[in-house]
Amino acid sequence: MSEVLVLVDHVDGAIRKPTAELLTVARRLGEPSAVFIGRTDHSAGAVAAVRKYGAAKVYLVDDSEIRDYLVAPKAEVLQQLAVKVSPAAILVTSSFEGKEIAGRLAVKLGSGLITDAVDVQEGPVTTQSVFAGNYTVRAKVTKGTPIIAVKPNSSAPEESDGAGAVEEFRATISESAKSARILASEPRQATGRPDLAEAAIVVAGGRGTGGDFTPVEKLADALGAAVGASRAAVDSGWISHAFQIGQTGKTVSPRLYIAGGISGAIQHRAGMQTSKAIVAVNTDADAPIFELADLGVVGDLRVVFPKVVELLAGTAGGISASVGTSQPEA
Ligand SMILES: Cc1cc2nc3c(=O)[nH]c(=O)nc-3n(C[C@H](O)[C@H](O)[C@H](O)COP(=O)(O)OP(=O)(O)OC[C@H]3O[C@@H](n4cnc5c(N)ncnc54)[C@H](O)[C@@H]3O)c2cc1C
Repeated sequence: MSEVLVLVDHVDGAIRKPTAELLTVARRLGEPSAVFIGRTDHSAGAVAAVRKYGAAKVYLVDDSEIRDYLVAPKAEVLQQLAVKVSPAAILVTSSFEGKEIAGRLAVKLGSGLITDAVDVQEGPVTTQSVFAGNYTVRAKVTKGTPIIAVKPNSSAPEESDGAGAVEEFRATISESAKSARILASEPRQATGRPDLAEAAIVVAGGRGTGGDFTPVEKLADALGAAVGASRAAVDSGWISHAFQIGQTGKTVSPRLYIAGGISGAIQHRAGMQTSKAIVAVNTDADAPIFELADLGVVGDLRVVFPKVVELLAGTAGGISASVGTSQPEA
């Protein structure tokens, strides 16, 4: 069976959930081989984790020479590994970094590339949801090695014991790949909430919050969810751009997306339309967000969200009569 290379997405050796998803997908296409680029002395946890999700092989690439550079060297590592093992496919996470690596790799290998896949089946045949979710595209790479960037939360990670045979791999990095250097980096202040792009649940607020994100944050914390926002909320200076979801913000694909005070403009939909279940809370029964919501609540988020938090905590005395609920028409 041919190998399928999976680029491991990790922070200091701790693998991120999308890697487990990619390994699960890779098993449908061939024999998964994880590619760990990082500090090899910090790799033991990552090796154990990728083995748990079925990695038959783990390529360890010491990043001491390339740690201070941007993504170009990683593309060269994957290119040289691909030339060596002739994989059936190469899978990366569809993040900003993953897509840039995939793009550079596609050029280097002369291969076709599919980004933002929401499903990958044997073939490999991918599914993408495009034009703000108005079209579903099934596609297949017809040239070279299929390179596929898969959106986080597109599949549920399934455990499967892999042999996890470790093999060190050294790549020769060109000077041109080192032309952009990282001079300083600062860890983002931890909020204790999951990362927006890979969260299984997202609670997002828009202009309807009136600038007070407290109900959004409290509901997110009650659900173990990430907080997101519309551009109107970001442009008003209520929350930083890092939280923006949409065409010019982050793309999310959680299992549950809860939108409070968001009208559902096409540019916002572009970033959340592939969520598995969408719940919208809006005071306006005609808000376009209800067209794509699986459950719509016509109500004030400042009333509905705290009530849901109470219900989750088991301290509510029942939904208040002032909160109207409606199921949008199919
Ligand atoms: C090139 C371009 C790129 C863009 N990129 C993005 C993007 O990436 N992401 C993005 O989000 N937008 C983007 N936009 C902006 C987009 O067009 C909308 O303007 C924006 O999404 C609107 O945000 P909103 O839904 O929060 O605000 P509004 O459209 O003003 O909607 C607010 C909603 O809140 C409801 N509401 C009011 N009070 C309450 C309450 N108390 N409780 C419940 N509901 C309430 C209202 O009924 C209304 O439906 C882009 C626009 C352009 C032109």
